[in-house]
Amino acid sequence: MSDCIFCKIVAGEIPCSKVYEDDEVLAFHDIHPFARVHFLIIPKAHVATLADCTQEHERLLGKMLLLAPRLAQAQGLDAGFKTLINTGRGGGQEVFHIHIHVFGGGDPVPRS
Ligand code: 5GP
Ligand code: ZN
Repeated sequence: MSDCIFCKIVAGEIPCSKVYEDDEVLAFHDIHPFARVHFLIIPKAHVATLADCTQEHERLLGKMLLLAPRLAQAQGLDAGFKTLINTGRGGGQEVFHIHIHVFGGGDPVPRS
């Protein structure tokens, strides 16, 4: 998707602060963190929302979910963390390339 900001990050056209990468998945710090640690886990292949996922995405979604605790711990979130997937306009989704928010630690930082 040429107009998708996260596809541009995957393509290296927009820089990111990388947390993890493999051939299918990328994780990077959120540009507007709402906790001391806040990163996003995305598939490299474009899928707009969780509601657009089908059976063929089952393994990939499982992989992304299982990465969350591993990467959270590597980011120092030993005491635990929160996960969030906003889906659709009504679900507060702003970037229409599916992503799992992983965040925690310290006091929440309000969005401006
Ligand atoms: P959503 O509301 O769609 O669940 O969350 C999208 C998230 O992407 C927001 O927390 C926002 O701060 C983050 N974001 C949007 N554009 C960029 C960007 O260019 N780089 C990074 N690192 N994060 C972004
Ligand atoms: Zn995309």
